[in-house]
Amino acid sequence: MPKKPIRNAFYYYMLDFKEEQKKIGINYANLADVATAAGPSWSRAPPPVRSKFEAIAKQEKQKKNVPDLKFTSNGVSLAEIERQEKELRDAEEAERKDINNLVKLKSFNGSIKYEDIYLMDVNFYCKAGTEYVIGESTILRFNLQDGIKDIYHELINPPHIPIGYASDIKIGSQEYGLEMPDDTQSRSNFMQILANCVDYLKQQDPNVNSLPPIFTIPDKIAPVQDFILQMCSKAAEDDSIFRIYKLDTLFFTLINAIKSRSDEGFPKESLALAQLKKDLFKYTPGIGCETHENADKSIECTISRTKRWAYTILDSCCPVVGIELEPGKHIPVDYDMDSIHTYKEQKRVRAGPSVANAIATTSYASSSVHNEGTSDSFNCSNLNSTLDSSLREKRTHQPLRLPKIDYSQSIRPAPELTEDNFPKLSAGRGRGLRGSFDNMRKKK
Ligand SMILES: [Zn+2]
Repeated sequence: MPKKPIRNAFYYYMLDFKEEQKKIGINYANLADVATAAGPSWSRAPPPVRSKFEAIAKQEKQKKNVPDLKFTSNGVSLAEIERQEKELRDAEEAERKDINNLVKLKSFNGSIKYEDIYLMDVNFYCKAGTEYVIGESTILRFNLQDGIKDIYHELINPPHIPIGYASDIKIGSQEYGLEMPDDTQSRSNFMQILANCVDYLKQQDPNVNSLPPIFTIPDKIAPVQDFILQMCSKAAEDDSIFRIYKLDTLFFTLINAIKSRSDEGFPKESLALAQLKKDLFKYTPGIGCETHENADKSIECTISRTKRWAYTILDSCCPVVGIELEPGKHIPVDYDMDSIHTYKEQKRVRAGPSVANAIATTSYASSSVHNEGTSDSFNCSNLNSTLDSSLREKRTHQPLRLPKIDYSQSIRPAPELTEDNFPKLSAGRGRGLRGSFDNMRKKK
């Protein structure tokens, strides 16, 4: 196993800084850039802030049982940063290759249609240091032929509540529709949940030693990984048996491997993520768990989210390989089938040689990018301008229940990391969630 990197207070401050900046749309190419940007505010940081991150570093170090190592007083050495970046790049490259191998091999003989794909999503109350306080988890299994097969869902009563995060937890529970951790109820047994996850992942092929990869959207890679790590450390299991991969990479690789025409699939990987983020099935009613349905927070439910990801992929991929979309399996149960049949007729005509040329001229990229962000209507990846406008109208997926607050519109101002902002921290108040919650309240 590779040696775990040594992390000091500045390192955790950088991670926090990077997350905060990401929320306001500032992304750094690498940790060295983060170090440069975060350095000044770190050196100005008041003692409560420094001691907070020193405490995190100390806690993490104890957790990992790593001996003391020297660091410059002002941060991680550049060599260390470069080494970590290389590790990350190598891991990403390995992931891409792994997904490619899986998809290409199975597409070659057509068995990809029957290959079970596992999606995972978690909800967390808050992030305490580097650890996520998880409140709900779902793993979903689907394949192209049968659509969604089953799910493994857990509402989690966190076994460990970090001190000083009570208000963050409350805010997180409101934002994600989670019930508050309950002292009077038994805590979730992470060893048992881990065992259930392994059983669930092994069901297609119980005899193989390796587990199939688990896919999630890029934003959820870190919390999903952390949840698995927490369970593995409770159970003294090796977490390296789990592969947590990016769903958009799979979607892109998959659709391009099974497509038979040049106008199908995605010309760029970013379009696969854009398609997932459009979340066309967002307001599908009744696909959340009981807790989320009762709290009127169905769209935040991990069951609902993983189902919506599966529907998005199935809706794009099944027509490409000629699998009929079956409501309740490939698309939501109450979906407007009339439109889909009309659409299929249209597609059959389009597939004929006489119109093939016309289709080739209308690329997916140009038709969808224009619509993106301007409407919530159903922009199927294969839909192009040969369809008449009435059909387009009919396929519009109307929100059945609009959200009370449009979270996507509450853009947060850049967190100015001045000393004025910091007293909150020493009082145990959250940074991320609390900030956005305050902003939302102001907007009301
Ligand atoms: Zn739920």
